[in-house]
Order: sequence, then C-alpha cells, then structure tokens
Amino acid sequence: MQQTTPSPPVHLPLPPPPPKPAPGCDICAALVRQRQDARDRGDLSAATDADVEIRNHPHRAREGRR
Ligand SMILES: [Zn+2]
Repeated sequence: MQQTTPSPPVHLPLPPPPPKPAPGCDICAALVRQRQDARDRGDLSAATDADVEIRNHPHRAREGRR
C-alpha cells in the first residue's frame, strides 16, 4: 500500500559556480565571451548553455600546443 509522502522542503539549488575555461583554449574563451554577452542581454538560458558547453568542452590533459 502506498502512502503519500509529504513533499520534501523545496530548496532552490544555488546556481553552480561558473565553469572555468581551459587556459589557452580558444573555444572556451569564445564561450566565456558568449556567456558574458548573454548575461548582458539578460538571456540567462543562453548563458547557461554557454556554461554547459564550457563544462563539456573536451580537453586532453596536457597535449601541448600545436
Ligand atoms: Zn575548451
């Protein structure tokens, strides 16, 4: 038998800290600029998208420059 459980207290998650762009990565640097732009426009969903992209941008550990 199922009992309805009281819903747990809702706490809003704090926004995660913005991911750090990888040093020397042009893509990340561009995304950071995009994110800043989006924030300036008040376009938070675009800003979040940029965050996600920065976070997910693959980087090999120390591949060295080409
Ligand atoms: Zn990157």
